[in-house]
Amino acid sequence: MNIVKHPNRGWIEVICGPMFSGKSEELIRRLRRARIARQDVLAFKPRLDNRYSENAIASHNQQIIPCVLIDTADEIFVHLRPQTQVVGIDEVQFLGAAAPRICREMAARGVRIICAGLDTDYRARPWPPVPEFLADAEYITKTLAICVVCGDPANRTQRKVHSGELVLIGSADSYEARCRHCHTVDGVIQPSMFGDEAGGNP
Ligand code: ADP
Ligand code: ZN
Repeated sequence: MNIVKHPNRGWIEVICGPMFSGKSEELIRRLRRARIARQDVLAFKPRLDNRYSENAIASHNQQIIPCVLIDTADEIFVHLRPQTQVVGIDEVQFLGAAAPRICREMAARGVRIICAGLDTDYRARPWPPVPEFLADAEYITKTLAICVVCGDPANRTQRKVHSGELVLIGSADSYEARCRHCHTVDGVIQPSMFGDEAGGNP
């Protein structure tokens, strides 16, 4: 993805996976490299997520890069400059249905978009609009964590506290990474579960 024939054309990269899988770490790494290449970089994240710091994308291993907090995806246009070459967005699952269209518009204008976010919720259901991003992206990286129960690669986010809310902001106190064989919903292991098989909406 570094060798392109038409340098002024944009595209979309997605980094997705469960919590603790290194999505923010990977996003920060790509944005840092773009800055090293002296590219004009902007980073954003939804205001909702303030787990480690306010105006920064932060990873669980304490890597940090400054960012602008936004409430809606179209706020990105307020900050976008004609010279902006790279836009990074963390926690994109919280940005709502308009986010893919806004990213497509920026990519069409020549911006490289890098989005990181959860592809599934705590019940292993696909988390809109991330599936739409995946369908449209040129490059997809699926990151896996380590299952805290068995040590296998983990593609699911286990909620440790009892709550039926889709969005429950928290970190290691409320969530842990688990593989499909150790992941439970309401205390029940269902390795084949996907989407509504998990029991429908809470
Ligand atoms: P994400 O953005 O996907 O939630 P982060 O990039 O914030 O992930 O954090 C990744 C870091 O989390 C790893 O480098 C590691 O230091 C730490 N970590 C904590 N628990 C786990 C786990 N169960 N599996 C993998 N990494 C973990
Ligand atoms: Zn496991």
